[in-house]
Amino acid sequence: MTSIVRDLINTLHGEGDTSHSLDADMQRVLQQLADLHGLPIETLNPVQARAQPTPADAVAALLNAEGRDTAVAQSWPYPKSLDRLIPGAESDLSVRVYTPAGAGPFPLVVYFHGGGWVIADKNTYDASARGISGAAGAVVVSVDYRRAPEHQFPAAWDDALAAYEWVVLNARALNGDAERIALAGESAGGTLAVATAVALSGRRVGRPKAVLAIYPIAQTGNDATQSYDDSADAQPLNKAMIPWFLDKLVLSPLDRTDTRLDLINAELVGLPPVTIINAEVDPLRSDGAMLETALKEAGVEVTRKVYGGVTHEFFGMAAVVKRAAEAEEFAGAQLRVAFARVAGREFKGVLPRAFGFASSESLIKIKAIGYAAKHSFSDLRPFEFERESAREDEVVLDVLYCGVCHSDIHQAKNEWSNTIYPCVPGHEIVGRVREVGAAVTRHQIGDIVGVGCMIDSCRMCEPCLSGDENYCSGPNSWLATYNGPMVPAAKAANDSNMYERENTFGGYSDVLVVNEDFALKIPGNLRPELAAPILCAGATTYSPLKHWGVKPGDRVGVIGFGGLGDMAAKIAIAMGAEVILFTRTDEKLAEAIRIGAKAVLESDIVALTHLNNSFDFIISTVPQKHDINPYIALLKRDKTICVVGALETMAGVDNQALAFQRKNVAGSLIANLQDTQEVLDFCARHDIGPEIELIQMDEINDAFKRVIKGDVRFRYVIDMISARAHPQTDPVSRF
Ligand code: NDP
Repeated sequence: MTSIVRDLINTLHGEGDTSHSLDADMQRVLQQLADLHGLPIETLNPVQARAQPTPADAVAALLNAEGRDTAVAQSWPYPKSLDRLIPGAESDLSVRVYTPAGAGPFPLVVYFHGGGWVIADKNTYDASARGISGAAGAVVVSVDYRRAPEHQFPAAWDDALAAYEWVVLNARALNGDAERIALAGESAGGTLAVATAVALSGRRVGRPKAVLAIYPIAQTGNDATQSYDDSADAQPLNKAMIPWFLDKLVLSPLDRTDTRLDLINAELVGLPPVTIINAEVDPLRSDGAMLETALKEAGVEVTRKVYGGVTHEFFGMAAVVKRAAEAEEFAGAQLRVAFARVAGREFKGVLPRAFGFASSESLIKIKAIGYAAKHSFSDLRPFEFERESAREDEVVLDVLYCGVCHSDIHQAKNEWSNTIYPCVPGHEIVGRVREVGAAVTRHQIGDIVGVGCMIDSCRMCEPCLSGDENYCSGPNSWLATYNGPMVPAAKAANDSNMYERENTFGGYSDVLVVNEDFALKIPGNLRPELAAPILCAGATTYSPLKHWGVKPGDRVGVIGFGGLGDMAAKIAIAMGAEVILFTRTDEKLAEAIRIGAKAVLESDIVALTHLNNSFDFIISTVPQKHDINPYIALLKRDKTICVVGALETMAGVDNQALAFQRKNVAGSLIANLQDTQEVLDFCARHDIGPEIELIQMDEINDAFKRVIKGDVRFRYVIDMISARAHPQTDPVSRF
């Protein structure tokens, strides 16, 4: 749509009958501003411009003259504020965090001040941010992004995005709720708010739920709009100031057409509800109308309100301008509605439990019973503990089955030197949902779900955003099902722990609490006790088989025929590959044939030599460091051996063997959520699953010993009903 047509539409939308008479409150502020004798900004350089009196100074002067407190001048309980530094796109940014009265966690608003990207800061716009915090009942983080001309376009946009991401990551520390988050901004900051929402709209998680844009600059192509015309000489913003700001901001004319600045031409589809506030006597009024039209055309829910008799910058003047107080209340109400929509579920509270534990106290803590190691040298023993009840996006499971992975042994015995005791292992968990948090949408009470090695991740880092939660590079990496965050607070920057849980307890227990996104669907035709090992052994082997593109006709080698090896072989066969297992154990040669694979003894050098240069992919599941050089020889040129078993320093690799045929040695860590769900579905579709031996909870110490000896065929799975205090009478019977 051309800007001429947009202007015409704006005229039809009522932009054409503005009266331009200022109301008495506004006139008083502008007169006070004039009395402070500022110079026209468009005649100054940026340093001089920044030193000019502001509308906020005029409001303060009026309040002083009336003997009123310039700080506590609003009707809602006064939000507390605290300044701090946060990481920006290139350097630290100063932000002011406003926290409303009450207990929290509060919704969050990331706010960007105005000033044409050149002048003003969070102090100038203190009243606006404080007002939004009070009116919306939200924690507001007001950001001092980098300004031009020292930092030209798009520095401010990069900082705005970085600040938003920081707020999401640190929501809990801010006493905020990352699910109920909005962007807001005023003037140039309004542009930043909308542009940041656009930048986030492709994201899978962490998107804002509302945008508040107060008289934003929405386009740069048309300086002949109706409001540029009828408010050309308005105060405190006039038409001549806009090109002055833009000249400082952008390097090339091309930048002006960048859709981060020229919002009406941005990809607006999919934005959350947008509220636009405009002042009647403002050159940017028509920009608001044009943005409204563009948003509507993109199918975005948009509400625009034009306040009569007031000018640009009126929004933060609630203390002295009645229309500003109304606008703040309106902005707050819009945000509250958007937050309530997200949390419509939240206000319902936690749904009633399906089984027992009905007292209200139990909503705070859930009693759990499991098996724990207290020291690296001790056996696992019964252990009673308490879990936090479900947060709004979490589910509570009655654990039905839990696989025994060799990692459980490494961890319980502190073989990776990072174990936090008491240690309740178990990350191959199948359970039945007995309670859902208020905001849960993926699961219902009674669903059979699975949980692997992760119960949460930061969701904002590049790996998380690209769907690789298992490589989360957030401050604490992912939250492990047991043993706490992968990067504990003691090793994280600033000793921070975004999960607020130092230790976590795994599936060798009767009950588990997990974020809903990290609970996978168990296909109906997959027996739950078989599904359990797929959540780690299956996923850990499926992920590299998929990543390195194993296809029908390939020859795949699997070293170590244990829990992972069994799944790797079956999945690769189902992918159409020919599989050869390498084992230390004679008796497993026949087992291999039974599952449709061949097997070779690791010690059979002659057989190995016959297989040289014939493998498309090899996966090692051996749980100790071992010599992979004999297996490198088996790879074809350009092919890969991936070591998933030994998470430690390996013996030296002959790089000549690699270099001469461009072969690769790689590693891989568990699987992301998508691959974990995929492998469950894949196994159900191909009717494959692990070979298991079902054991009782109190047999776990024997089971550990037999896994270490390599005695198990091929995975122990604990029937977790046996972990319950009264298994015979417990309401969680099998099915
Ligand atoms: P298992 O004990 O079930 O199987 C390992 C198999 O490796 C044994 O059955 C044995 O098979 C073979 N093996 C070779 N040398 C040894 C040895 N010195 N001691 C014991 N076994 C040996 O283990 P899992 O399959 O459960 O786990 C394998 C490894 O994978 C573990 O170290 C575990 O921590 C790791 N792991 C890694 C993950 C990742 O993300 N990278 C995820 C999950 C597990 P055979 O008799 O055929 O020789």
